[in-house]
Amino acid sequence: MTDRYAVIGNPIEQSKSPLIHTAFAQVTGQDLAYTKVLSPLGEFAQTVDAFRAAGGRGMNVTAPFKLDAFAYATDLAPSAQLAGAVNAMKFEGDKIFAENFDGVGLVRDVVHNLGCPLQGRRVLLMGAGGATRGALLPILAQGPAELVIVNRTLSKAQELAAIAQTQNSGGVPVRGVGYGDLQGQAFDVVFNATSASLTAQVPPLSTSAFAPGALAYELAYGKGLTPFLKLAQQAGVTRLADGVGMLAEQAAEAFLWWRGVRPDTRAVIHTLTVPLV
Ligand code: NDP
Repeated sequence: MTDRYAVIGNPIEQSKSPLIHTAFAQVTGQDLAYTKVLSPLGEFAQTVDAFRAAGGRGMNVTAPFKLDAFAYATDLAPSAQLAGAVNAMKFEGDKIFAENFDGVGLVRDVVHNLGCPLQGRRVLLMGAGGATRGALLPILAQGPAELVIVNRTLSKAQELAAIAQTQNSGGVPVRGVGYGDLQGQAFDVVFNATSASLTAQVPPLSTSAFAPGALAYELAYGKGLTPFLKLAQQAGVTRLADGVGMLAEQAAEAFLWWRGVRPDTRAVIHTLTVPLV
């Protein structure tokens, strides 16, 4: 029997998840159907209940429901607990297992696909929202030289840095700062995990924040050269990436969790890549 999976969100038309998971199912020979589910706002639980009652096995969760999924889950993985948000669910009887694969997908893209180890590197994470929360543990697990979280609202960066310190068994220095505090500091890897690019804006980051040979990574995807990537280019950065690989890798992690087989992501990344020009 064909197993049913879906991505739930509102809006949902833009989601690439059905394309990605259908491609993964084809290359791995898995018998599954993956669709989009538009949930009315305020009716997340009812919509998921109906999907489960119809035999649904698992769901990806996108905006604005990652917090609703957190509340709905019965069994939260540590990644979801720290992120305070859920992007994948697996249904087994009454159990709703919940994960957040965004951070692990990001790190896999950077380290594995882009060949940029984070160990011993100075890492700057811009933004203190859901994507940053999800990325904290997987980045710390790589053993960077330091991790600095910079955010427009300073208190949120400080709060996340404090949370990260409690989870930080490797003793990596973690700081939460404002943009004005970055003067004179340069980083080997700069992640833009703000949502500024979605409105063609860029946080007030100085070009001096990029160390020679730095990687500038934009978590948003499919937008070409965003204002952040342009800023990095102006700073002389030649290693630029957007979040298409992160998207594919978090999907591959969910697929592995659901089906026990990890698909190769290269074809999907190739299909979805928008040139950075
Ligand atoms: P959130 O809404 O949770 O957080 C947004 C963050 O951006 C906040 O810290 C906010 O600061 C900051 N911000 C927004 N506008 C500006 C601005 N103009 N200048 C400075 N800071 C700003 O968003 P998410 O964490 O969910 O998403 C962040 C990005 O990551 C988005 O671009 C999203 O598309 C991308 N993403 C990509 C994924 C992928 O698979 N590639 C997966 C998940 C997310 P403040 O706290 O001060 O409001």
